[in-house]
Amino acid sequence: MRDIDVSGKRVLMRVDYNVPMDVASGRILDDKRIRATLPTLDYLRLEGARVVLLSHLGRPKGKRDPSLSLAPVAARLAELMGEPVQTADDCIGTVVQDAVAALTDGDVLLLENVRFHPEEEANEEEFAKALASLGDVFVNDAFGVAHRASASTEGVAHLRPAVAGFLMESEINFLSRAVEEPERPYAAIIGGAKVSSKMAVIEALLERVDKLMLGGGMANTFLKAEGFDVAESLVEDDYMAEAKRIEEKASERGVKLLLPADVVVAERFEADSPARRVSVKDVPAGWRIMDVGETTIDVYAHALAECKTVVWNGPMGVAEMPSFAHGSHRLAGVIAKLEEATTIIGGGETAAVVESLGMAEEFSHVSTGGGASLEFLEGRELPGVAALQDR
Ligand code: ADP
Ligand code: MG
Repeated sequence: MRDIDVSGKRVLMRVDYNVPMDVASGRILDDKRIRATLPTLDYLRLEGARVVLLSHLGRPKGKRDPSLSLAPVAARLAELMGEPVQTADDCIGTVVQDAVAALTDGDVLLLENVRFHPEEEANEEEFAKALASLGDVFVNDAFGVAHRASASTEGVAHLRPAVAGFLMESEINFLSRAVEEPERPYAAIIGGAKVSSKMAVIEALLERVDKLMLGGGMANTFLKAEGFDVAESLVEDDYMAEAKRIEEKASERGVKLLLPADVVVAERFEADSPARRVSVKDVPAGWRIMDVGETTIDVYAHALAECKTVVWNGPMGVAEMPSFAHGSHRLAGVIAKLEEATTIIGGGETAAVVESLGMAEEFSHVSTGGGASLEFLEGRELPGVAALQDR
């Protein structure tokens, strides 16, 4: 964004204001995605740009849905900026064109939910042209949807000079560091519910990391593939062979692969279920693994101690239940203390864990993109990034 002149220009800016909202009251439950765009907005306003903001909210499936209006977001943005934010009740059309034409330098206008139009997700050329007509230049600050080739993320970028905003820039900078030139030793910790959704990233990371530590529900499939009885734990039996193959590939490549040694098991998948810590050899019949144990975190902490790059994606347990969040909380503390390392947190639920602990500032980077950061770490090209201009 610093490479182009924006003063006095109409800047069409794609943001990711897909914030969690209480549908009944329209109350915003978490405004971090709005706050994350303030640096770019401040810069543009100081430079005297006329800012036209474009976002989606939820999944209106191409139809106008008043409960998914961005009006509450405009109100919150105005509060956060301490400046008025104009709104329009659509994102294309004559009313919108008039509103844009009436902007003066430094003004901010938030258009209505771009997904009210089916042409958005279909990435239709005419729709992209209608959006592009609203700006002289295009700034993309919506990393969280950069993996989607929509009209407002990809189509429009081919029709106007297109550059990255500060949030997009910092996401790309930090994540590329992990993908392209990681300082070594490089460790990745992957958790979360399912192996199936993490297979591609594990596969890609195996090409790059020195150590790979697994946890969460997905580690169960690896444990079972190693012959442990995981009783009623979440397992994807279809992926046992894949798990074995990953283990073989890790050993061929000299990647140190670590699995949980002890786990917290529960009688039922419930927050207040009876629970206890056992060795992975001793999961009681009828019980299920809900979290990793103290020994596992001790071992992982030891393996992380010398690392210079650390990527963590996926909670170590069912972290939304306080009684099974301990492993994730301890791991967050361990990573936060690695003073010498570049530490990167990716994934929606993992970011939520570190934010709930008030620890977000203690990592080099907490990605705002869930799916997008995963695809980036997989080494895939993100359409919303690829469409931006090269320097
Ligand atoms: P992220 O959003 O950070 O990428 P995921 O979506 O992959 O993370 O994983 C988060 C989910 O994994 C949570 O809903 C959590 O309950 C689930 N999970 C973690 N450990 C277990 C487990 N042992 N059994 C069942 N589910 C688990
Ligand atoms: Mg998730």
